[in-house]
Amino acid sequence: MLYRPLGSTGLNVSILSYGASPLGGVFRETDDQEGIETVHTALDLGINFLDVSPYYGATKAETVLGRALRDVRRDRYFLATKVGQYGDGIFDFSAARVTASLDESCARLGVDYIDLLQCHDIEFADLDQVVNETLPALVKLRSAGRIGHIGITGLPLKVFPAVIDRVGPGVVETVLSFCRYELNDTALKSLLPYFNARDIGVINASPTGMGLLTERGVPAWHPAPPAMIAGARRAVDYCRSVGADIVKLAVQFCVAHPGIATTLVGTASPANIRKNIAYATAPIEVELMNKVLELLQPIHNHNFTRGRPENRDPIVP
Ligand code: NAD
Repeated sequence: MLYRPLGSTGLNVSILSYGASPLGGVFRETDDQEGIETVHTALDLGINFLDVSPYYGATKAETVLGRALRDVRRDRYFLATKVGQYGDGIFDFSAARVTASLDESCARLGVDYIDLLQCHDIEFADLDQVVNETLPALVKLRSAGRIGHIGITGLPLKVFPAVIDRVGPGVVETVLSFCRYELNDTALKSLLPYFNARDIGVINASPTGMGLLTERGVPAWHPAPPAMIAGARRAVDYCRSVGADIVKLAVQFCVAHPGIATTLVGTASPANIRKNIAYATAPIEVELMNKVLELLQPIHNHNFTRGRPENRDPIVP
């Protein structure tokens, strides 16, 4: 495994990291024991950064992750969770709620300290509230030593500068972007110089585009429009026809970018996390990679957006 610094946090994170949303049964019914084994396999093979949220599986992912971490030394991993999103359409970014939320997450996870606490999907929030209430509440928790660092997450890219430009340096230490840097979409690249100039650590999530670039394909809730799903399918089918695993290319493409500290991949399968970790450090088959990028060109940077109208990115249809 290779490691990169996460902005100025002082955390040296594995270039491939573990996203625990599948432990909440977000993609399919999962077996908790297998999920726990997946976490242990990830840690044993060098992953040291774990991401979760109370939202995933309505607290189930945090609970299962907590069971997995029960017997693991606390200095073996950096733990990130989130505040503000608690169910489909259920958001509360108030200071009181996010402060209580930290205690609830710690209880489920069986820890008393969170390395990185992130405001979860701020496109659904009133950004004035995030700037004036949520982030100040997290700064208080950081000053009190309850958390190590503060981050924000979101799908539309515009929400990141919209918040970072309005708070003092060092308030937001990381961003978590998803589905905007993967084989079919490189829009996140445009913001990397902005983050880099401010020493903000970049976490890229969903290298397979939340299942878009997998054999199983997307879950029913996936927001991609049909043309995008069909476009991705062509690349998946091509890889199968030549005996290649598209997930290998998907992982390699993301971890190769030096401006991205870490890429979060989700799975509840020990076999798949093993594969993904091997993929992250294997040499790229350049010809195959180029062929797949060419196949995905017709849907390059096509996207979906969401959140409050003022927080949405323009759509490339
Ligand atoms: P992902 O792109 O990592 O895809 C997960 C899907 O790919 C699952 O269906 C999984 O079974 C499948 N998969 C993984 N490895 C595979 C393999 N080797 N072969 C076949 N299929 C494989 O998407 P994700 O899980 O949504 O994202 C990763 C993590 O990033 C999440 O678990 C979460 O922690 C984080 N995330 C955060 C946000 C946010 O904060 N807003 C949004 C998206 C993701």
